[in-house]
Amino acid sequence: MKIIGAHVSISGGLANAPLNAKAIGATGFAMFTKNQKQWVAKPLTESEIELFKKTCEENDYRASDILPHDGYLINLGNPTDEGLAKSRASFLDEMTRCELLGLDRLNFHPGSHLKEISEDECIARIAESINMVLGKTKGVTAVIENTAGQGTNLGYKFEHLAAIIDKVEDKSRVGVCIDTCHAFASGYDIRTKEAFDKTFAEFDKIVGFKYLRGMHLNDAKKGLGSKVDRHESLGLGEIGMDAFKFIMQDPRFDNIPLTLETPNPDIWTEEIAKLKEFANS
Ligand SMILES: [Zn+2]
Ligand SMILES: [Zn+2]
Repeated sequence: MKIIGAHVSISGGLANAPLNAKAIGATGFAMFTKNQKQWVAKPLTESEIELFKKTCEENDYRASDILPHDGYLINLGNPTDEGLAKSRASFLDEMTRCELLGLDRLNFHPGSHLKEISEDECIARIAESINMVLGKTKGVTAVIENTAGQGTNLGYKFEHLAAIIDKVEDKSRVGVCIDTCHAFASGYDIRTKEAFDKTFAEFDKIVGFKYLRGMHLNDAKKGLGSKVDRHESLGLGEIGMDAFKFIMQDPRFDNIPLTLETPNPDIWTEEIAKLKEFANS
């Protein structure tokens, strides 16, 4: 079964996320568990946790339908000791929040070398960060997102994701999230069935579908290989609608949150309806 949703707002409280998802006809959703522009948030209260869990349950959202996203400041491959320590502490806080909320995965961007260390050294730091945080938490999988390759961000090649996974000790708690806009911007074509099949055959060979824990469904404002991370509404960008139909009709994408991060929330209801229609046709 396809689990389809969007990255919904937590404004007014975390329990608003499942309500916002329900309102747009989503069967899953993505969310932040705190302000994404801050290093550390005030701790979750017992009543916040209970209300979130209760609202998810009442609206039929299970942990496996939800893909939380970490904050924007975290860089688990930070070249400086101070930056790295701060990022690791913040990531641990994020993973702990997920654990408390009964969530089972946390989506994050791998990290940036900032031109101060090599890609390999950065990958080693990212993997070490994941190992440290997994050792201090329970039940939450670290889900590495592929990137567009903008700036000095790693994760724009499937090989980067595989290299990080390779160094993670507990393979049962590491996974990946593929963002269609990022994949396309980093040079993976998915516009035709042939190109789509080739890209995901490569993904399966290098990373493996068994690690896929979620997808971000975004069209792209810029062209193939542009390395520019600019999302567009489905069908209105350079990727086009067919790629999303291929995903919806492919059982390899069953039972994981497939969430929109498209720029116009006013049409999320229609976008989700369209995706459901593809899945059922
Ligand atoms: Zn994304
Ligand atoms: Zn993006």
